Amino acid sequence: MKPIRIAIIGFGKIAADQHVPSITANERFELVATSSRSGQGVEPVYTDWRRLLREVEGLEAVAITTPPSVRHEIASACIEAGLHVLMEKPPTVTLSEVDDLTGLAKAKGVTLYGTWHSRHNPAVEAAAEELAGKRIAGMQIVWQEDVHKWHPGQRWIWEPGGFGVFDPGINAFSIVTKIFPGALFVQSADLSFPENAETPIAAEIDFASEVAEGPLHASLDFRRTEDEAWTIDIRTTDGHAVKLTEGGSRLFVDGEERTVTGPGEYPGIYHEFVDLIDQRRSLVDVRPLRLVADCLLASRRNQVEAVQP
Ligand code: NAP
Repeated sequence: MKPIRIAIIGFGKIAADQHVPSITANERFELVATSSRSGQGVEPVYTDWRRLLREVEGLEAVAITTPPSVRHEIASACIEAGLHVLMEKPPTVTLSEVDDLTGLAKAKGVTLYGTWHSRHNPAVEAAAEELAGKRIAGMQIVWQEDVHKWHPGQRWIWEPGGFGVFDPGINAFSIVTKIFPGALFVQSADLSFPENAETPIAAEIDFASEVAEGPLHASLDFRRTEDEAWTIDIRTTDGHAVKLTEGGSRLFVDGEERTVTGPGEYPGIYHEFVDLIDQRRSLVDVRPLRLVADCLLASRRNQVEAVQP
């Protein structure tokens, strides 16, 4: 079978670390071009993505790995050009934009895939099975990391549409919307904004759910320095403890680790993209983005000290 000719638009940390190796290891894809304004990428590199779309012969698909603020503009042009589109998380800045893209892809008959990489950990699927049909006694999400270690020099994260601490926090929301056995509603959100930033550096969130009988809380913080904590701890009313650690890669049930295996986050994403293209289906789950939007709608705002660039 002829491989699907794919290009990467927006070539930064995640494109280099994950998308290139996952595409090149997947025989159903051929990486034929990349683009970034600064000329970073795998040859041939375009500094204008519009030129890439015009000039690359036989292009069939794109992976858009820019910051989210420009996704809608780029994705809509790619869909209009008849390409299958994979988007890094978060898919867009606003719910209206992602909704628009979904409609455009449907009208054009191409695949639109809004990825949530954390969901591709096999431990996440196993946690969902453990929690299915259960009532919840309590949940504690801790998603904390050093912004300077994990997002060096990424000024966009502090600009409008940059998501701030919700850039990693939405990964926790992508997991919890997959494993939690009922709907989650944001009850309150205390957001801390540095005096020189337009997006929050920390968030303390309380959720409500009809399947819960105790507190549901998330603590997101970009100011953690010693290490990182990416854990989701859920207790059920029948006495079980289901804990995901290391960003959803390890699962502990009642303190015992469950061994689960799978292709890994980004190889799993590209396997799913092939399946969706083969079936001419789209997959865009907006629930993680909607929870972020609800946090901002329901928030109390605190100003905190400036963040170092
Ligand atoms: P990054 O290192 O800053 O790379 C972003 C890329 O987009 C660069 O190629 C940048 O290059 C390009 N770009 C920036 N602004 C642009 C614009 N206005 N128009 C066109 N291109 C633009 O960011 P990243 O860490 O790779 O993150 C990108 C996305 O992946 C984010 O949505 C993030 O949430 C997601 N993600 C990141 C990680 C991670 O560990 N870093 C993990 C999973 C997902 P030029 O400035 O040269 O154009």
